[in-house]
This record gives sequence, structure tokens and C-alpha cells, in this order.
Amino acid sequence: MKSSDLFARAQTLMPGGVSSPVRAIKPYPFYVERAAGSHLTTVDGTDLIDCCLGYGPLILGHAHPAVREAIERQLEKGWLYGTPTPLELDLAGVITGDHPAVEMVRFVSSGSEATMAAIRLARGYTGKQDIIKIEGGFHGAHDAVLVKAGSGATTLGVPDSAGVPASLVAHTRQVPYNDPEALETLLAEDDDVAAFILEPVMGNVGPVLPDDGYLADVREITAAYDVLLILDEVITGYRAGIGGAEVLYGVKPDLATFGKIIGGGLPIGAFGGRRDIMELVAPAGPVYQAGTFSGNPASLAAGYAALRHLHEHPEIYRRLDEATRAIGEAAADAGKGTFVRIGSLFKHFFRSEPPRDYREVKECDTEAFSRFWKAMLETGIFLPPSQFETNFLSAAHTTQDIEQIADAYRSCLFA
Ligand code: PLP
Repeated sequence: MKSSDLFARAQTLMPGGVSSPVRAIKPYPFYVERAAGSHLTTVDGTDLIDCCLGYGPLILGHAHPAVREAIERQLEKGWLYGTPTPLELDLAGVITGDHPAVEMVRFVSSGSEATMAAIRLARGYTGKQDIIKIEGGFHGAHDAVLVKAGSGATTLGVPDSAGVPASLVAHTRQVPYNDPEALETLLAEDDDVAAFILEPVMGNVGPVLPDDGYLADVREITAAYDVLLILDEVITGYRAGIGGAEVLYGVKPDLATFGKIIGGGLPIGAFGGRRDIMELVAPAGPVYQAGTFSGNPASLAAGYAALRHLHEHPEIYRRLDEATRAIGEAAADAGKGTFVRIGSLFKHFFRSEPPRDYREVKECDTEAFSRFWKAMLETGIFLPPSQFETNFLSAAHTTQDIEQIADAYRSCLFA
């Protein structure tokens, strides 16, 4: 069946025809038959260079041999036990070893679960109720953080979800990114704040980069007001480098959340941080958290294999940085909009200056983006279909892929 037919049927079976909103590309999404390395093959027989990479987890590309072998080895031994496994210690050891702020870790099944649990833990630890998030920050699809959320929520124009109790949202306060004064002002007036949660680099409307010193300011201000700092590293973890944004920017959070890359492309999430806080998590302490699929062996095996490969090949990060620089140079030739990148995250914003916060991101010309996105797809390059989602590169993108992407930027931005 062709993509158009599959989507017609999907719309009768699933709301909007999809399993997650941002996939509902108009007039219909392409359906993927298989993927390998940097390429997707659709059911319609089209070959695409993939710069979406499952929205970030696949830093090694599709079906990377080391990860595939680890999954296959695990499948032979079964894939769900409902008991602890030695694999948990392997992955927990790598994550705690790479992140000085993460002394203990708990595995869950998604990034959303990780931020939900980290927020509960912060409330349990401090005894306070409010949280502060960044306007346009995205931390998953649970109630407390679905307020002015980025990602698909912004793309579809529903940054505040129906069905979220007003009483609950009243405990979620917002400040603009890159504005330490706004954070300090809010903390001075609200003495019931348990935690400030932020993506160190805004990945879900960006990348929008932190101003010099912003993350250090945030650390200082939260500490001064006895508010826990939660770094949401679901995107930046192992993408900003080994040790994520914590190490790249030298900022030490009280808690951190992870997902995406740490599962090697299988579902996973994790939260971790200071031992004295983590020891409040059940069964060690009174903050309840649990999950049937938490720490599932296949995800742990895949994640461990991926992280080991990154440790063994740290040159991957330099290569990816050079690759996005080359694409950025091609984009700059067009003299239209502005290209922002950090490592393997990149985006062309249809706005004259790099945005510094959500308000500025929303000033982008989304119609120009749509035309550009379609033109890129026609040349065989799949970018996430929104001005408000970051693009990703993987170690599997070849020099030829990068040249093709750079050429496409040149031609599609000039069009
Ligand atoms: N936090 C951030 C920064 C994310 O980018 C995402 C997902 O894109 C999440 C949390 C939620 O993760 P998941 O989609 O695995 O629930």
C-alpha cells in the first residue's frame, strides 16, 4: 500500500492517523519501510537522507551494527524479566561516570516519565509545590509541563493542552529563556518553588543557545533561593558530548533527566542526581515511582552499546561539529534567515537574527519554512517538519550525505 492509502486508513483507526502529533505531515505523511545508516526508504520506494533520526536518539544512525548486535544478543536471552538485571549496573555506571552531578540514577521508559518523576522528587524533597519552566521549553507530554510547551505543541498551535486541570497548571510558573533577571524576580515573589526545570539548550523550538554565563547564573540564582535545578538533558545528553550540557557548559544541576540516545534508539528515560535527593525515591524513600518496563533489558543493552561506541569513538563529536559547520556555511551563502547550530544539532530560522527565546522563535516566517522544508524533501532530505523542531545529524552521515545536504540548503534557500 502507498503512503497516501495507509494514511487514509490510519485516520479511521487512530486520532489524526498518527501515534504522535508531529508526525501528521500534510497532506499525508510518508510511511517508512526500512532504514539503514543515514537513509530511510519509504513504502513508496523513495530514498531519503534522514536528518530527523527518530527525533534525536539515533546519533549513530539507523541499525548501527554495534547496537543491533547488542539487541540481538539480548533478544536471545529474553527481553523482559520484571527483576533487576546486571545490564542496569552497566548503563547506570556509564551515566553516573560521565555526569559528575549524577550520583544515582533511576531508569524509566521515556523522557516524559523522567521529567515527571524528577518534578515529583523535587517536590518531595523540598516540600514545596511550584515549579518554574521556560516558555517554549518541552519536557514531554505530562500535565505539569504542558504549558507554553515547545515541540509539536507549538507546531500545532496548542501550547496549552485541553484536559489539564487549572489547579495543577497554577503550580507551573514560566520565565523566558536567557533571562536570569526574570527568574530571580519570580523567585523573589514566590517562596513555594521546588524546582526550576530547563533544557540547557532549547531543543524543541531550536536549537536556541544559552547566552554566555546564562546557565551559571541560573545555577547561582536557584542555589541562592534553595530551589532545585533540574537540567533536562533528554536531547543534549550524549548529543552535546559525553557528559552532555552539564560538562559542556560546566553547570552542576541537582537533578538531571535523560532519554533518547541513552537507549540506543529503543524506548528509555532516566532521572538522576544528588545522592541525598535520589535516596528519597521508592523503595529507598517516600517518593513513589515505578514502571513495568522500567530498565527493560533490550533498551539497556542497546543504550549501553551505543554509549560504549561513543566512548570508544569520541572523534564522532568533532566530525559532527564540522559537518554542521559545513551545512551552515552553505546556508549562509543564501543570505536568507539565520542558521544556528551546536555540535550535531542545527536549524535554519526564517528570521534575521538567531532567536534568544520562545517569543523570538515565534517571530519566524513559518510559511517560508514550509516551502523550504518541502523543497528539501523533494531533493531527498528529510528534516523534522516544523520550524520548531531541531534537526539532527548522525555518525552514519557520510561526507557525500553532508555535501548533498549542504547543496540542498544552497538550492532550497535560494529558491
Ligand atoms: N524532554 C525533552 C527535552 C525532550 O526533547 C523530550 C522529547 O522530545 C522529552 C523530554 C520527552 O521525551 P519522550 O518523548 O521520550 O517522552
